[in-house]
Amino acid sequence: MAGPDFDLVVVGAGVLGAATARLATLYHPDWRLLVVDRGFAGGAASRVSAGLDVPLARNATQRDLVRRSNEAWGTLRLGTPGLDTPVVDTYWIVGDHHVDDLRDRIVDGSVGPATAHERERLEAVFGRIVLASGETVFRSYGSRYGSPAAVARAMLKACFSPTRLCWEGTHVEKYERNARGFTLRCRDGRTIHGARLVVAPGPWITSAPWARAGLLEHVRIKKVAALHVERVPEAGSPVLMFFEHDAFLLPRTDERRWILSFASDDWDCPPEPSRLAISSADRAKALSVVNRYVPSFAEHLHSGRVFCDAYAPDRTPVVAPLDGPATALVGASSGSGYRFAPGLADQALELIGAHPTPTPTGPQGEAGP
Ligand SMILES: Cc1cc2nc3c(=O)[nH]c(=O)nc-3n(C[C@H](O)[C@H](O)[C@H](O)COP(=O)(O)OP(=O)(O)OC[C@H]3O[C@@H](n4cnc5c(N)ncnc54)[C@H](O)[C@@H]3O)c2cc1C
Repeated sequence: MAGPDFDLVVVGAGVLGAATARLATLYHPDWRLLVVDRGFAGGAASRVSAGLDVPLARNATQRDLVRRSNEAWGTLRLGTPGLDTPVVDTYWIVGDHHVDDLRDRIVDGSVGPATAHERERLEAVFGRIVLASGETVFRSYGSRYGSPAAVARAMLKACFSPTRLCWEGTHVEKYERNARGFTLRCRDGRTIHGARLVVAPGPWITSAPWARAGLLEHVRIKKVAALHVERVPEAGSPVLMFFEHDAFLLPRTDERRWILSFASDDWDCPPEPSRLAISSADRAKALSVVNRYVPSFAEHLHSGRVFCDAYAPDRTPVVAPLDGPATALVGASSGSGYRFAPGLADQALELIGAHPTPTPTGPQGEAGP
């Protein structure tokens, strides 16, 4: 029986699969690597993602994941040409009764009221900012943003060599374990033999052939949408967070517009672009935030973006063996899969025994939101 064709196969070329591939090549430059995707490199959720990386955690497990991601982002930035993730100043509109909550949720960073000078600068960018009684503007540090699809493609490009490949348009339909590792059977008739496997299928995590009884039964697919503010942000514009509304205005200077991210409430959506749309309820919800706080932006809200993401209870992503050792299923990033991608990738590699410095507690410790 011939040996496996690849030391590591990664299914999914979104930001999570790409981060896994890139870290693996930095840890094991001699490995034969294959990344496969049913679509294009750059992903599906990653393709439409807003791309904000803010060091925010809802609980202790997310806190660990933020720290692990920060470290892995550092490794990736050093080792990947063209990985563009600029720092962005971050301001929060928050009510008095939530200030302690905000302070608790920022990881390893200071949070304090914006100075008068900073408030002036904000009004120069956003026009009049309308605060209700008891609401204040705070500032925090340590946020970055990027185009998740461009980041994914930069990481994959840095991997490529004659023995490190990415096959787009390759839909994996079946997974089988065998004595030498595993075999993937693809819709185009090809079979892939590998020794180690990381599956990062984004919102297809609950679909065949990955769905596992028990492991994913509480994972649900939720629509994620954002509107575009068709105004060109000046270089150095800050992000404005609406803490109690789970919303933010992010200057995407690379797209020459702002993105208004907000929480859509549509659950159990199919991960099919043709069946997902921004609804009138979505638009009304987004407009209510802008009209209330930064009314001068409202008239520029025209287009938008929509897809979906897999959400886990407590927003705790899944990093688990797919089927015994050397195989991992990773995802259910719960709307935070861009900022958590490097940390989750690092955990997945640790789980399959491909990490250079495994932690004593193992990868499943306290990870995820
Ligand atoms: C509008 C929007 C805004 C968002 N904003 C933010 C944000 O500001 N910050 C943040 O951190 N997160 C944000 N998110 C969430 C984040 O984008 C996702 O969590 C993240 O992109 C998931 O990355 P992924 O690589 O796991 O999935 P994807 O990008 O979906 O990639 C998965 C890939 O797997 C492939 N695949 C699936 N099944 C198979 C198969 N059987 N065979 C072969 N290939 C397969 C798919 O084709 C796809 O390319 C946002 C999401 C959306 C939709």
